[in-house]
Amino acid sequence: MYQEEICRLSPNEWEWFAQDVLFHLGFMIHVGPSEGTDDGLDMIVEREKTKYLVSCKHNHKSRKNVGVREESDIRDRVEQHNCEGFIAFYSVGATTALKKKFISLENAGIGVIEIYLDNILDIIPTMMGFTLQKYFQRPQEIHHHLVQSCNYKPLKCMNYECEKDIVSKERIPHSLAGFCIDNEDFIHLIYGCKSCVGDYCPHHYWAEIGQIRYIEQMLVWRSIVDEVVIQNKPANDFYKHWALLQEAILQIQVPQGWGRWI
Ligand SMILES: [Zn+2]
Repeated sequence: MYQEEICRLSPNEWEWFAQDVLFHLGFMIHVGPSEGTDDGLDMIVEREKTKYLVSCKHNHKSRKNVGVREESDIRDRVEQHNCEGFIAFYSVGATTALKKKFISLENAGIGVIEIYLDNILDIIPTMMGFTLQKYFQRPQEIHHHLVQSCNYKPLKCMNYECEKDIVSKERIPHSLAGFCIDNEDFIHLIYGCKSCVGDYCPHHYWAEIGQIRYIEQMLVWRSIVDEVVIQNKPANDFYKHWALLQEAILQIQVPQGWGRWI
């Protein structure tokens, strides 16, 4: 799915996207896409005192890997623009022959950074939503976890025999949060797979995880939780579970203005 979204970008958008990705990766932009002339120069960027000539290739129609013929005279181009390095920013991959050429450039003292489709797919989830929104119509679809890093914390289904991560990309559509009242009339906040906990929340208030990940919907859900707390006796574990749920949702929260839950 990510791949299809990328394919829809025009070659020009691809260059602008490359600029945003490189900036995100800590490169300083010297010459951006609009200023680039037509002599094999797309951009000039710098990081750690090394200037790189960037070549953006977007073979979105053929989807063929970039070959040696498409990247002629790399060394000359790099030198001509007073750069010391070369960045291949491709929406596909590179052929074996071109990769070999990169190795020989490295051996000749030209730093080569290769950024291919696979790398880009890994980088996208770490980028800011408002940047992605410039290129992708529904960034939430390619942006499942805003904080998918080593700090990511799964939220396990409350059914002890299941324990699936309900905020994982695959499980979001199948999960919910709700309330149940125990024999002593205490109310509990529960969450899990619809199939695991759905039967245990007869309470008329419940929410889909796919719904409350939209911030506008989360605000509604918060006021529902407040109301439920006022009207019932919250159990000892109520606030703990509410905190865990909110913490988990934050990781997949869809920012304001990105569209509404339908
Ligand atoms: Zn479950």
